[in-house]
Amino acid sequence: MSTPTPAAAHTSVLVINSGSSSIKYQLVIPDTHEVLASGLVERIGEPVGAVKHVAHGETTRRELPVTDHAEGLRVVLGLFDEIGPDLGQAHVAAVGHRVVQGGARYSGPALVDEDVVRDIDELSPLAPLHNPPNLTGIRVARELLPDVPHVAVFDTAFFRDLPAAAATYAVDTEVATTHQVRRYGAHGTSHQYVSHKVARLLGRPVEELNTIVLHLGNGASASAVRGGRAVETSMGMTPLEGLVMGTRSGDLDPAVLFHLYRNAGFSVDDLDDLLNRRSGIKGLSGVNDFRELHDLVEQGDAAARLALDVYLHRLRKYIGAYYAVLGRLDVIAFTAGVGENDDIVRAGALAGLEALGIEVDLGRNAGRKSEPTVISPDGARVTVLVVPTNEELAIARQALEVVGAGRA
Ligand code: ADP
Repeated sequence: MSTPTPAAAHTSVLVINSGSSSIKYQLVIPDTHEVLASGLVERIGEPVGAVKHVAHGETTRRELPVTDHAEGLRVVLGLFDEIGPDLGQAHVAAVGHRVVQGGARYSGPALVDEDVVRDIDELSPLAPLHNPPNLTGIRVARELLPDVPHVAVFDTAFFRDLPAAAATYAVDTEVATTHQVRRYGAHGTSHQYVSHKVARLLGRPVEELNTIVLHLGNGASASAVRGGRAVETSMGMTPLEGLVMGTRSGDLDPAVLFHLYRNAGFSVDDLDDLLNRRSGIKGLSGVNDFRELHDLVEQGDAAARLALDVYLHRLRKYIGAYYAVLGRLDVIAFTAGVGENDDIVRAGALAGLEALGIEVDLGRNAGRKSEPTVISPDGARVTVLVVPTNEELAIARQALEVVGAGRA
């Protein structure tokens, strides 16, 4: 048995993000933001899986076969038992599950019951890579942790109430309605967290602020948030639309698909693979990590330079468009792996927008930011910030709200 942690006097939430061959988890205290443990099970279903558990400032790594998600979660619970912290003493009030697609049904988190399980299952055609593993994680966790309430937190929820003009594709209404073709967005937990955090950081009521959030990670999305509510976002029916991403194309003329299908022998699966995994920065430059991209640019690699230019051009286009959608802009917030760490991308995306009141102070912008940081000059019309996202904390808070757990 492990030693109980002193912080375990507070209510905690176990956050689970279940992917196709991985389980990410975090045991977090929403009140204090303290992370009691975190970890990752990878290569589920392969001959040898990898497990990493971080607790009490120490990292434990194991390599062992993990046949399926049930086995993966059993291994995780075993590590909590063996290394700690002791879940029995951590006052776990809820398990919060990240679910990618909540469709038109969910505008907030939901206590998992049989209806919610069925809904997530039924929405799988809209997120075939994500909802099935998310659901497997929920099923397995409910079996192994039956005494704790489970809450589904949807990536689409923040965008559920986008204005119809922003959510609707201009295609035949009957086809769109029958097949649920509309814009759902994604990364909503992050966009909501960052846009609301910005208000707290600036000491302004969120109702007063018009904000553009740029979530730039491996996947990337932009949102326009008016008074705390999303009015536009760049991801669409799936996370393929919008900005240029690590390996995804973002926007392109749909006729490119007809062309490659009819004239170049691409199957539907080939097209899926092309646009989701062989496009974006990787498709243009051969690498998808921005650190490698910048190295190539410095070495004079023309393809890498073009990839960066295409990426920045798309970003700038969206910023201008969302400025127009909002009518007035108070804040631009950068977040996620690239947004938090890459000063070249931040400065490049906003270069030349001074006439719109958007400026970057190059000294303030320099370097990686692990804390919220204003990077615009004092007195600028638009405040530009870097705000590290924390999706696990946001999921934990939402889960607690749903179960109505009292404060310790
Ligand atoms: P996701 O959650 O979408 O997988 P992240 O938000 O973790 O992605 O972002 C990962 C990306 O962040 C990496 O692919 C890399 O391009 C970028 N990144 C991470 N660290 C840095 C850094 N120091 N400088 C530039 N880019 C970075």
